[in-house]
Amino acid sequence: MPRILVIGGGIIGVASAYFLGKAGFEVHLLEREITLGALTTAASLQAVRAQFADPVNIAFMKESLSFYETFAQQLDLPDHDIGFHQQGYLFVTTDEAIAARQRDRVAFQHAHGLEDVEYLEGEALHRRFPYLAGEALAATFRQRDGWISAHEALLGFRQAARRHNVRFHLQTEALSLIVRGGRVVGVRTPAGDWEADAVVLAAGPFTAQLARTADVELPLQPVRRHRVVIGEHDAIPHWAPMTIDEDTGAHWRPEGPGAALAWAEPEAPSPPQRHVSPDPNFTFRVMEGVYRLCPFWLEVAETLKRDNVFLHAGQYTVSPDHNPLIGPVPDRPGLWVISGFSGHGVMAAPASARLLADLLAGRVPEDDNPYAVDRPGLEAAEGEKMVL
Ligand SMILES: Cc1cc2nc3c(=O)[nH]c(=O)nc-3n(C[C@H](O)[C@H](O)[C@H](O)COP(=O)(O)OP(=O)(O)OC[C@H]3O[C@@H](n4cnc5c(N)ncnc54)[C@H](O)[C@@H]3O)c2cc1C
Repeated sequence: MPRILVIGGGIIGVASAYFLGKAGFEVHLLEREITLGALTTAASLQAVRAQFADPVNIAFMKESLSFYETFAQQLDLPDHDIGFHQQGYLFVTTDEAIAARQRDRVAFQHAHGLEDVEYLEGEALHRRFPYLAGEALAATFRQRDGWISAHEALLGFRQAARRHNVRFHLQTEALSLIVRGGRVVGVRTPAGDWEADAVVLAAGPFTAQLARTADVELPLQPVRRHRVVIGEHDAIPHWAPMTIDEDTGAHWRPEGPGAALAWAEPEAPSPPQRHVSPDPNFTFRVMEGVYRLCPFWLEVAETLKRDNVFLHAGQYTVSPDHNPLIGPVPDRPGLWVISGFSGHGVMAAPASARLLADLLAGRVPEDDNPYAVDRPGLEAAEGEKMVL
């Protein structure tokens, strides 16, 4: 039985370990920290959507969301609840040109198998979402999008993976890859060397750094992103969908009796970090950002108590086209990667991990892999720039 080492126990590594174990491999997952899922996965807004604008991404995210919809059955964990709130995703604009693009995008999505996205404008939009400001002109909406608990999903994958004899090794840092005869044959840890037939890098922001220890340069860059969580507040409509200002990218969604807010502001790439320091001013900027289209945020901001605001930061692992790199690393046999999810790793985890396992098991030919590490045009690509 081929032996595989998965490096990194975020949602991507743990989902990968599950699908690889299910495919019959002997799998060991190495995680540096004392617990799984403590890095980028813990900083996520945990939102999931199929509303993409590229046919490959649409199909991929549909697969992932269907998996999340039936998570307990898929993994045979009858009582496992990942808290999937299908309250929808609403992309809103005040701009005529963007509204026209939204209309075209919805037609394109319908033509590519995503028939349940709605295009809304004027009265119909405001009747349905009365918390929106008068300037809101148009929006796209899909009810089946929403958010999950990434933590519960990760724990479900771990439990199911254990049934396939996957072993989880916490506090086990991969210091470097071991290369012999041009091939990656294992990893070096402080407690000794681990040999394997294949090593899968699922180390989030640390993926490129680890690849470099085998003289491989992956086009991945960590970029800091923030999240603010507001505790209980009466002014927040708790039934609302994830609401995105498509003109600026500022967005928020309900979170229990409060809300979670984020905004992918332009920021230069930074070295990978185990503890990402947030910018304290982000809270003010993001509240200003979401207020533009949702005026109730002014009331929240004016009455907000300091101990009711929780600011976090993590790092997106960004690829040139904002799509993941999944599969074997060219010219370095034995080395595989599953990373570069930008803002989409939680939503993409089930389909990505399934694809990785199918590629490793030879069930999907490399030519049919849309996220290949050496896909044509990756470096020059624009990709889907809705990096929420
Ligand atoms: C603010 C913010 C909001 C986001 N919102 C969303 C969202 O709404 N929806 C969505 O789908 N995605 C979102 N994302 C992106 C999502 O969080 C990531 O794409 C996803 O968590 C990536 O998971 P991962 O397992 O690849 O990485 P990580 O969660 O970073 O896991 C990598 C793991 O590898 C371990 N590791 C690293 N180096 C080593 C080593 N040398 N040896 C052993 N272990 C190592 C780390 O400790 C870590 O546990 C958001 C991200 C941020 C920062």
